[in-house]
Amino acid sequence: MEEIHSLLHQAEKEINEATDPQSLEHVRVKYLGKKGHFTEILKNLKNLSPEERKEVGKDINLAKDKFQDSFAQRKDTLDVVARNKQELKESIDVSLPGHPIQIGALHPISTTLERISQIFSQMGFHTETGPDIESEYYNFEALNIPEHHPARAMHDTFYFNDKHVLRTHTSPVQIRAMEKMKAPIRIIAPGKVYRCDSDVTHTPMFHQVEGLMLDEGIHFGHLKGILEAFLQAFFEEDVKTRFRASYFPFTEPSAEVDMSCVKCKAKGCRICKQTGWLEVLGCGMVHPKVLEYVKVDSEKYTGFAFGMGVERLTMLRYEVDDLRLFFENDIRVLKQFSGV
Ligand SMILES: [Zn+2]
Repeated sequence: MEEIHSLLHQAEKEINEATDPQSLEHVRVKYLGKKGHFTEILKNLKNLSPEERKEVGKDINLAKDKFQDSFAQRKDTLDVVARNKQELKESIDVSLPGHPIQIGALHPISTTLERISQIFSQMGFHTETGPDIESEYYNFEALNIPEHHPARAMHDTFYFNDKHVLRTHTSPVQIRAMEKMKAPIRIIAPGKVYRCDSDVTHTPMFHQVEGLMLDEGIHFGHLKGILEAFLQAFFEEDVKTRFRASYFPFTEPSAEVDMSCVKCKAKGCRICKQTGWLEVLGCGMVHPKVLEYVKVDSEKYTGFAFGMGVERLTMLRYEVDDLRLFFENDIRVLKQFSGV
C-alpha cells in the first residue's frame, strides 16, 4: 500500500511536469499501459491472500481513479495551451497594410483596335474575322494575285507548305465574307498579319484592319468620304486627306491615302519628314476579277476596300516613336496607357 501511495505521488508529479499532449500520453502509458506500473500491481494481486487482495485491490482502484482525474485535468490544460499557440500562429493582424493590387490596362494596340471598330460600327460596318493560317487561295489567288505574280514576292511570306501561309494581310477576310454574305456588305476585319521582315520599323507580326463596302452604285466618292470621316473621328481633329494613285492587284483604281500631319499641323516636322503629310492607308475600288472569284455580279455591284496598319495609327495618335515598345511589354511603358 505504501508502494501504491508513492507510485501515485510520483505519477502525479510526472503528470504535472508534462508540457505537451505527447509527453502526457507517455506518462499514461507508463502507469496504465499494458505493462504500466499500476497494471503490473493488478496482475500480481493473484499472489496475495484473499484479504490482502481486497484491501490492495481497493487501494489500487482508488489510485487509478485519482491518476485518471489528474490526467484528464492536465490534458484539458495542455489542449487549451496548444490551441492558443496554434491560434496565435494563424491569427491575422488586420491593422497591417494590405498588398497593393496591380490594376492592369489594355495594351495600346488593343485600345486602337477597339476605337477603330467603334468608329466604323457607327458607320454601319460590322466586324469579321478569319484564320491566321490561310490557304494560298484566300491569301493570294482569290485576291487576283496568281502564282508567279510579282506581288507575291513583295509580301515576304511565311510558308507552311505549298498550300498554306501565315496570312500576309487581312484581305483574305474580304473574300471569306463575300463568299458567305455576297452583296450588299459592309465589314471591317481587324487582326494579326505576318511578314518575314524584321528591323527598326518592321516586326514579323503586326496588326491590320481591312475594310470592305459593296453595294449598288458605290463609287470612289463614298470611299473618300468614309475614310476622311474615319480619320477625323480617330484623331479627333480636322485632318485633311490626299489620295495618290497606286497599285494593288485586288483594287482598280488603287490609291495610297495621306493625311495632314497631326504633329506639326502640316507645317513640316521630323515625323512627316518635313512634307506635312503622313501615309496612313491603302485603298481602292474592288477589282471586278475579285468579285468574279466570289461570284458577285460585278455589273450590278461595285465596292471599295481599304487596309490600315494599326501600329502606325497607334504611334501617331499616342506619339510613340519606337515600334518595338509595343512588343517588349515593359510594364513601365504599358502603365502610361492605362486610362487612354
Ligand atoms: Zn509633321
